[in-house]
Amino acid sequence: MARVDLHLHTTLSDGRLTPTELVRLAVSRGVTVAAVTDHDSTEGLAEAFAEAAHHPELTLVPGIELSADHPTGEGDLHILGYFLDTGNRRLQGRLREFREGRKGRAQRMVERLAELGLPVEWSRVKEIAGEGSIGRPHIALAMVERGYIATPQEAFVEYLKDGGAAYVDRMKLPPEEAVELIQGAGGVAVLAHPIYVTGLQELLPHLVEAGIRGMEVHYANFNREQRREMGRTAQSSGLLPCGGSDYHGFGTPGEQLPGSAGPPMEVYRRLEKLASARASTP
Ligand code: AMP
Ligand code: ZN
Ligand code: FE
Ligand code: FE
Repeated sequence: MARVDLHLHTTLSDGRLTPTELVRLAVSRGVTVAAVTDHDSTEGLAEAFAEAAHHPELTLVPGIELSADHPTGEGDLHILGYFLDTGNRRLQGRLREFREGRKGRAQRMVERLAELGLPVEWSRVKEIAGEGSIGRPHIALAMVERGYIATPQEAFVEYLKDGGAAYVDRMKLPPEEAVELIQGAGGVAVLAHPIYVTGLQELLPHLVEAGIRGMEVHYANFNREQRREMGRTAQSSGLLPCGGSDYHGFGTPGEQLPGSAGPPMEVYRRLEKLASARASTP
């Protein structure tokens, strides 16, 4: 039985398992196609591929998750990229800038928390993030350590959600540029967790025009009705119905594990074809 999961995080962004640990967990759960999709980083892929070499039953896909801005300013859009050439210099240059921008932004969120009477050590947040691209979950984990909240998710309710009391905006990236960066590196762009996108129906034609080729439908946190609805939207927009668990390894109760959601093998094959078609175009 094929088990496809095209959305997984590691310690190279805000996941809590190293690439090696993640690959081992995915294999142990019967995943046969896995994409590592860290936020603004492909730095975990070399280690993931080294581990995957010991598991011939697993096909590993080089991926990424970029944060772009909603054109009307309502939250952010996450765009997944698959089958990337990680040696692409323009992509890597931009990724370094995005990660640098994340640092300043995280530091400002830590300052806001202090103003709100919830101080966390900036040095501790950096330590938790390690070499990964720093993000809100790292701050949330530091808040858990300080005993302000019980789970990282709780930090988002009031403080870290978009527009929350301690929230600070990221550097701006138009979705067209995110798609273009992925395509420029030979990759295929897919819209992540579309249910969370404000004004999805109005926005989709623009994203399709920009070059996205799929959207997440088989997403672990979507219920059956949401999957049906997103499936219909994908079909009417000519997009491949992709998906995955979006596993981060937070260890919170009810967390969806690798392999808990993902598209059928046939969808993966079509996605793969789109990438090789692009790669063979001069
Ligand atoms: P950042 O990259 O710093 O913008 O943080 C985005 C990450 O924070 C997402 O990938 C999730 O892991 C997490 N996140 C965002 N919004 C929420 C939320 N409302 N509840 C829990 N986690 C969230
Ligand atoms: Zn994340
Ligand atoms: Fe996301
Ligand atoms: Fe994600």
